[in-house]
Amino acid sequence: MKIVVQKFGGTSLATPEMRNRVVQKIINAKRGGFQPVVVVSAIGRKGDPYATDTLIDVNLKICKDIHPREMDLLMSCGEIISSVILANTLKARGYEARAFTGGQAGIITDCNFTEADILEIKPDRILDSIANGRIPVIAGFQGVTEDGDLTTLGRGGSDVTAVALGEALSAFAVEIYSDVDGVMTADPKIVSNASVLSQISYSDILELASKGAKVIHPRAIEYAIRGNIPVFIKNTGKSSPGTVVSFEYERSFGSSKMLSKQVVTGLAHITGRVQVIINQDDPIVNNRILRELADNRVSIDIINIFPEKMIFTIEAAKIEDTRRIVEKNACSYNIVENCSKISVVGSKMRGVPGVMSTIVKALTKNNIQILQTSDSHTTISCLVKGEDTAKAIIVLHEEFELYKNK
Ligand code: ASP
Ligand code: MG
Repeated sequence: MKIVVQKFGGTSLATPEMRNRVVQKIINAKRGGFQPVVVVSAIGRKGDPYATDTLIDVNLKICKDIHPREMDLLMSCGEIISSVILANTLKARGYEARAFTGGQAGIITDCNFTEADILEIKPDRILDSIANGRIPVIAGFQGVTEDGDLTTLGRGGSDVTAVALGEALSAFAVEIYSDVDGVMTADPKIVSNASVLSQISYSDILELASKGAKVIHPRAIEYAIRGNIPVFIKNTGKSSPGTVVSFEYERSFGSSKMLSKQVVTGLAHITGRVQVIINQDDPIVNNRILRELADNRVSIDIINIFPEKMIFTIEAAKIEDTRRIVEKNACSYNIVENCSKISVVGSKMRGVPGVMSTIVKALTKNNIQILQTSDSHTTISCLVKGEDTAKAIIVLHEEFELYKNK
């Protein structure tokens, strides 16, 4: 039995027309000789009645300090509603289907409410449903603890459900359907000639996703790598092939003979970053600051430590915590709000000289100030002022000729 896990995002389920398209995708898989296992997200976006953001707002209007356990109980309703609606839509079209919560589908998690990790999947009920000729439709983004409490897997976690199930069921492939055409070389809302990649390696998509590209949850890719499962990213509203993510592509490594222009796969960005500069030369104090930030769950990024100062970035929501910690340690400091981190990603850039120089040239030529950089073998990130975000992405896309990527 060749199982294909098909995950449908919230916009794909929003209207009866869209749901008909979803049914068609499921039926096409069946006709193609596959056994579909369906995973769904909550319907719609913020403001729509069952969307996750709406449910969070409902809770926060009642009480600012909701216990994460109760937050999860409410948040998980969005996906449960979707699973029942889609199972019944299939039934109305003459196909037997069965809706499952994450827990009923055998997804067991730890107790880290709102950010739970999957400990184990016992897919017996999914397999029973298949054996009885009923298409399983599973509520994404959720699981259950060993004590029976409902948990959620972190925002965007339906992707994680889909690929984790793919691994547990030794699926032939996982398909992630949404309203985008596939993995793109940059955000198409910013770059009009951004191109859809027909294929991408696990490592490049993992980098793009963790650097802000909203294509798939990065943790989902970790499951795909572990299970060696190809993931297809497709548009529900079209029949275009989308992007395939797999190891295949990984084998064509770059060499130093490649031009620096040819080694970039795509761009990702994160807005709303805050740069913190601490002018301080005592390593013991720096150490204490880093410890206290960690204890207060302030996650820091683009970290540079020099003999006389320390620089890093944080998310805007953590400014007050950070300010309090730094002031307590009596340091002179400077906070630069509203920055964006732009990342240039490509596993082929490993060992190829000139990528950084191309980035710096393109940005400075266009009067975009680089506030800070960080790099790994496969990614170079630049922190720029928020107002320069779109311009920086457009000029880098042009400079690296990413519109030519396929
Ligand atoms: N509905 C959840 C969220 O908005 C999970 C998902 O869509 O993947 O984060
Ligand atoms: Mg998503």
